[in-house]
Amino acid sequence: MILVVGGAGYIGSHTVKELIKSREVIVLDNLSTGYHSLVDSKATFIKGDLGDDLILKRIFSEYPIKAVMHFAANSLVGESVEDPYKYYQNNVSATMTLLKNMLDHNIKNFIFSSTAATYGIPNVSLIDESQPTLPINPYGRSKLMVEHILEDFAKAYGLNYIVLRYFNAAGAHESAEIGESHDPETHLIPIILQHLLGKRDKISVFGTDYDTKDGTCIRDYIHVTDLANAHILALNALLAGNRRAEIYNLGNGQGYSVKEVIDVCEKVTGIKASIEYSDRRAGDPAKLVASALKASEELGWKAERKLEDIIASAWRWHKSQTK
Ligand code: UDP
Repeated sequence: MILVVGGAGYIGSHTVKELIKSREVIVLDNLSTGYHSLVDSKATFIKGDLGDDLILKRIFSEYPIKAVMHFAANSLVGESVEDPYKYYQNNVSATMTLLKNMLDHNIKNFIFSSTAATYGIPNVSLIDESQPTLPINPYGRSKLMVEHILEDFAKAYGLNYIVLRYFNAAGAHESAEIGESHDPETHLIPIILQHLLGKRDKISVFGTDYDTKDGTCIRDYIHVTDLANAHILALNALLAGNRRAEIYNLGNGQGYSVKEVIDVCEKVTGIKASIEYSDRRAGDPAKLVASALKASEELGWKAERKLEDIIASAWRWHKSQTK
């Protein structure tokens, strides 16, 4: 049985949908940003917090858990700058409680959701895992702190772990049953698609004076199902028994500017967007594009879906939400 903490969130719920095809799954989620309706009905669901010692004790004593996947985090760069306490409390302190309970119950396999934000402002065009980690916002720092904790726990307590550093997760499940929905929504692709559906007046482009080809920020967008598949491969690698303490980037290896993403959304939907250009958003680096060569070589993982596929899948889901 696999415990998925944060399995009612966007990336967690998409992973549960893939994982449930081959494993028994139990989801723990406090529903602070997730939705029970996103959790596959074949999974066992427990509402609770990953920082709640009592709930964790009960789960680890009652269920034969072999590995834990941890998606439960606050993940908004701007919010982390305004409210860092929330980020260090939820992302670091509560994670410590989870890890302690795992070790108390001799559960040693752990998959951790990390982020490209750990790199800060990289000075290479393709970021691989050997690049320095100098995050520029509390969100990235909170994730990096847990990465360091895992490294120490592996040495001291024999924890086996895989850290997956996501670039920009986007898109929706092929069934169009689940997709990306945050409240309030701050992510670029859902914001554009909500606008094209008439749910927002316009799109604001944050910053036009970055050192990029058209002045807007460049990101590497990766389909959520590709991310989910990487978790399954990481789990198989951990359960195969070899000691592991590894970090992998997950991205497409191709960067798109904010303007280019809007262009692709217009092309996929056939609808013209209304755009306003505004100031930079705090904490945003100009360009984040992954080299995912290590994940390909060691886990056998490859991103299958390109930006057009990502946006087409997200568009199918957004349209289904208006019915
Ligand atoms: N962005 C934008 N307008 C929006 C939302 C986002 O211009 O309404 C930009 C944002 O500044 C960043 C990129 O789009 O450069 C991706 O932002 P998102 O919040 O989707 O992901 P992040 O890179 O912060 O994880």
